[in-house]
Amino acid sequence: MAATPTMGLIIKEQKVSENDRLVTILTEQLGLIRAFVPGALKLHSKHQSGTQLLCYARLSVYKGRDTYKIGDAQPVEVFFKLRQNLRALALAGYFCELLTMLAPREEPAKDYLQLTLQALHLLCEDTQPQPLVKSVYELKICQFSGYMPDVSGCSICRRADVVAPRFDVLRGTVQCQNCGVKTPTCVEITAGVLTAIRYILEQAPGRAFAFRLRQPSLNRLAAVCEQFILTQTDRSYKTLDFYKTI
Ligand SMILES: [Zn+2]
Repeated sequence: MAATPTMGLIIKEQKVSENDRLVTILTEQLGLIRAFVPGALKLHSKHQSGTQLLCYARLSVYKGRDTYKIGDAQPVEVFFKLRQNLRALALAGYFCELLTMLAPREEPAKDYLQLTLQALHLLCEDTQPQPLVKSVYELKICQFSGYMPDVSGCSICRRADVVAPRFDVLRGTVQCQNCGVKTPTCVEITAGVLTAIRYILEQAPGRAFAFRLRQPSLNRLAAVCEQFILTQTDRSYKTLDFYKTI
């Protein structure tokens, strides 16, 4: 059986027997896959470091009947600093849970991978506030998985210059003050927040985090992005609840 070489990020791990682990990997070519790591828990296993949680590695995978098997794993980035910062690690855990829900299976997922690597890099370096990294991640992953909001203009009068905008987290639209009927799913935002949302949606994964937003607009952005993803995916996330307790 020929091995498929791919770059991949380990986003979940489970111990399945004394020596074996089952990992969920976000790969560039195959999207999300589950793969066995034979003998990974043995002391001095050559797979040990390359298949740890949140390790980005060069992998060769073999396809079995139901799952894959890791043939080789060479670590490229282990995001070491994440492991020293509980809040950042908890946020990374939330990103992984979003991926297990929303990333494609058995089809290319280059955008998801680039977005996640950039987010983890920023969490390690701490060069952008966590609410910004979290907001961009939530909005981009919604965009990639088909929950794309329409923020080009007011959804009623179509003016691009939206005065006192409101973001409807259920419909994924914005309305201006004159047109918008205030409903429980409408969140009041500012012109600055709307500009940030448009920027995030327009940019490629590697550039989408590269902006600054002052308070209180940043908190407003964080609130609207979180409500948007929770409403669109219609569920809660244990890892998000945990992040908020720290
Ligand atoms: Zn309007």
